[in-house]
Amino acid sequence: MARIVVTGGAGFIGSHVCDRLMADGHDIVCFDNFLSGSANNISHLIGRPSFRFIRHDISEYVHVDGPVDMIYHLACPASPVDYIKYPIHTLKACAMGTHNALGLAKDKQARILFSSTSEVYGDPLEHPQREAYWGNVNPIGPRSVYDEGKRYAEALTMAYRRTHGLNTRICRIFNTYGPRMRASDGRIVSNFIVQALRGEPITVYGKGDQTRSFQYVDDLIEGMIRLMNSDYDQPVNLGNPEEYTVLQFANMIKELVGGNSPIEFRPLPPDDPKVRRPDNSLAKKVLNWSPRVPVRDGIARTIEYFREHIA
Ligand code: UDP
Repeated sequence: MARIVVTGGAGFIGSHVCDRLMADGHDIVCFDNFLSGSANNISHLIGRPSFRFIRHDISEYVHVDGPVDMIYHLACPASPVDYIKYPIHTLKACAMGTHNALGLAKDKQARILFSSTSEVYGDPLEHPQREAYWGNVNPIGPRSVYDEGKRYAEALTMAYRRTHGLNTRICRIFNTYGPRMRASDGRIVSNFIVQALRGEPITVYGKGDQTRSFQYVDDLIEGMIRLMNSDYDQPVNLGNPEEYTVLQFANMIKELVGGNSPIEFRPLPPDDPKVRRPDNSLAKKVLNWSPRVPVRDGIARTIEYFREHIA
């Protein structure tokens, strides 16, 4: 049994991390400021003796009483809609938030896993993306608050490792979906499912020929836990290589939901990456991990979740 801090623990991914760690018998201290997270995601954990929730913005100094063995640092807006609406908060979560999380890890001599992103690869000139690829990021575009924020946070994590001998892990998370995504989150999976369920037009940005690869949240959580418990200290991609164009994906959602939503084309947001697919060979080698949930199955489960939650 370990005492584990989860920052961003009331978010879509963070709440699944809390669930898994609780099921594994650990004590959890969960931080969230509810900027994009929600109390609903953790309401089933509140009141359990091994779960403590602290409403707090991680970009402010963070204090935890008693020992801490591990920190899963996830706090940050992650949907383009959110981080473009809250650009300064996003940069602060990445910079000061990660600084505070690393400071806590140093103070408690805890192992820390920083959740980075495939966005560090920007609009990639290499496909699929390997961890050794340095990326192609516009440093001043509207997405840069997230892309550069996460790149800075990776640099900070490595600096703490080199300077203070901190025990660090970095995962780069590719597009992930599943229950507890916000209906209004603005990302492709929630948008398309909610639009199809409501019989509204499905909004395809650009021509829909850009690609993404979609990972079910349970696969991601398994990868994160394995990475934390491994002794591998360099960045590891966690994603599902099943790749779709946005238009193919829209048609698949239409087929799985049923109904007759038309497809409506909208302008492509600036700096929208043209392709994205993880090379998973490193995760396979060092964690013996690969995603198990086929996209159609995971999407079917997610449609069920939204059917119940947007009624
Ligand atoms: N997208 C879309 N319609 C939507 C939402 C997103 O066509 O209603 C596209 C978006 O332009 C991008 C892809 O879907 O090419 C994935 O977008 P998302 O916001 O999920 O995250 P990203 O992978 O860009 O960070």
